[in-house]
Amino acid sequence: MENKVNAAEIFGKNVFNDKVMRERLPKKVYIELHKTIDEGKELDPMIAEVVAGAMKDWAVEKGATHYTHWFQPLTGSTAEKHDAFITAPHKDGSVLMEFSGKELIKGEPDASSFPSGGLRATFEARGYTAWDCTSPAFVREDAAGAILCIPTAFCSYTGEALDQKTPLLRSMEAVQKQALRLLRLFGNTTSKKVTPSVGIEQEYFIVDRQKYLKRKDLIFTGRTLFGAMPPKGQELDDHYFGVIRERIAGFMRDVNEELWKLGVSSKTQHNEVAPAQHELAPIYAQCNVAVDHNQIIMETLKRIAEQRGLQCLLHEKPFAGVNGSGKHNNWSLTTDDGINLLEPGKTPHENIQFLMILTCILRAVDRHAALLRESAADVGNEHRLGANEAPPAIISVFLGDQLEDVLAQLISTGEATHSLRGGKLHTGVKTLPDFAKDATDRNRTSPFAFTGNKFEFRMVGSRDSVAECNVVINTIVAEAFADACDILEKAEDFDMAVHDLIKEYATQHQRIVFNGNGYSEEWVKEAKRRGLPNIISMVDAIPALVTEDTIQMFERFKVFNRAELESRVEIQYEAYAKAINIEARAMIDIASKHIIPAVIRYTRQLADTINAVTAAGGDAEVQTELLKETTQLLKKTKETLKDLEHDTEEATYKTPGREQAVYFRDAVFADMEALRIPVDQLEMIVDKEIWPMPSYGDLLFEV
Ligand code: ADP
Ligand code: MG
Repeated sequence: MENKVNAAEIFGKNVFNDKVMRERLPKKVYIELHKTIDEGKELDPMIAEVVAGAMKDWAVEKGATHYTHWFQPLTGSTAEKHDAFITAPHKDGSVLMEFSGKELIKGEPDASSFPSGGLRATFEARGYTAWDCTSPAFVREDAAGAILCIPTAFCSYTGEALDQKTPLLRSMEAVQKQALRLLRLFGNTTSKKVTPSVGIEQEYFIVDRQKYLKRKDLIFTGRTLFGAMPPKGQELDDHYFGVIRERIAGFMRDVNEELWKLGVSSKTQHNEVAPAQHELAPIYAQCNVAVDHNQIIMETLKRIAEQRGLQCLLHEKPFAGVNGSGKHNNWSLTTDDGINLLEPGKTPHENIQFLMILTCILRAVDRHAALLRESAADVGNEHRLGANEAPPAIISVFLGDQLEDVLAQLISTGEATHSLRGGKLHTGVKTLPDFAKDATDRNRTSPFAFTGNKFEFRMVGSRDSVAECNVVINTIVAEAFADACDILEKAEDFDMAVHDLIKEYATQHQRIVFNGNGYSEEWVKEAKRRGLPNIISMVDAIPALVTEDTIQMFERFKVFNRAELESRVEIQYEAYAKAINIEARAMIDIASKHIIPAVIRYTRQLADTINAVTAAGGDAEVQTELLKETTQLLKKTKETLKDLEHDTEEATYKTPGREQAVYFRDAVFADMEALRIPVDQLEMIVDKEIWPMPSYGDLLFEV
């Protein structure tokens, strides 16, 4: 295999990007299409017809036989239905390859089997996918050949959003409109667009596929349901940023090549904290494109791993007792003329526009902390949030010393007169240069951290879509901007009004700012004192979607209507219940069919040995002790298994929705944890040859 990859040569090779469009579309069509992409002008069907033809020719040249409307239903992943380009055969038996403008713009998958949370009964199956022309189409190569993928939004017959993309696009429009309003007040007359820029860091685990295939729990649920801790964990911190092993390096090389071809600017890669854990981050892009790219990244990681005899685990907590995986959502606002609205400059205390925007964001996060936390709610994330590795379930904002100091000046005296400097970092080595330090250190424990010229939201789970958190961030910020504009537009003395408003927001929302250790017990107490919500469980986070405050805000900016929000609540409860149900059943299956029989085999072996040793007049004390211990644990296993079986059955009689989800959490999940204890203890005793699946040590250290 050719081992060298020239990134510049292959980058975007399989993307119907601007360069391709300019080359292949008649000039007039290209200009018209750009009006739709840049200005949101409605697409003319005639233009769509020409674009579709060019897109098809390009894709067919790349070997594509099919096209698909690639969309993101509320399952967390993507969906697609493939259609071949061929037309009905002619009389002479030949076929043509065709793709019309209509087919490009609109698709109609049978929507009945996607989660809709009651928005659509199964008999009203119509759902439409509509082309999102701001995210470029691409050709994906896989075992099935090559397919033209058209990023689309997915709506019901009555126009309600059934996916992640539709509200995301709506929220981008909302924040753009309000940000422009604010910029105009500050005298900016030139910027025409404001887009959220998003860069997503993706964590994942890689294990050997043969071993993975021997773990039914991983296959069915994505995480291990049993497993004793290996003798070595992550305590040495020797994996983090360590040298990447050959097998993984080869895998990463293939992943990068594939991503670059698809126009995903995969940039950084490194080993993460846990053994077998890694991270990949592309360069940031326009919000909806970044969200699409994150889906492509997840798909690509899984596909390439399989090709290389590996398995990528995207679950938030594949291994108990070992760090889990998340995503960091880096977010900022960029104008079409290249201004980052979150850039404080060297002297933030003088940057009034920045301070207004910053305090608006503080207000947004403080007012909607529970909603923001909800946006990261995901079944797998339950094991992470609030555990000692991911940010806690309490939302707070890290600003760093410099900005916190500026705010403190504002609050105490009403005037900020200076900004702290970073100073020099003295390395103490003559041959090393001294660095100019950043004005602020990092804080890895904060869920919403200001990192220089962007905010980093660190709560999202590794398997989850980042669409939801961006919908929330875009909309709450749009609301804060709109409220500020409502006041400032009426002001007689603008400078005075801005000054007062910054001070007011900074004072009112000071409680959301926290620069300390978010993992500490003291913070939990302090946050409670400040009145900040601490919502540990997904099941309790869900209602934040339908508080009157939330509904009002989303309706005001036309991101969601009440029915859409209510449907999402149903979908979330259902997703939770379904996931725990599958986990419980997988546990029952593995315990009854694999673990208990294996332990019985082991006890028989022990009993035989004891008999043989005793018959020979030897001392079988140790074996007898082991047999006793094993038998006790086996009993405990059987008892806890019975409880789990009983409660899992019981759960089916609960009313679907909140009641059922709560039952799964409080009864079924608790039973699962109880069953795990004796089984993990047994794993430490029973002969490895007999234990029915690979251990944590096998999975984590033998890749
Ligand atoms: P850090 O080391 O602070 O986590 P990196 O520079 O590695 O940050 O970037 C992490 C992610 O943030 C990358 O995807 C990067 O492209 C993205 N990023 C950088 N600047 C911005 C910005 N202004 N807005 C949004 N994302 C950004
Ligand atoms: Mg980061």
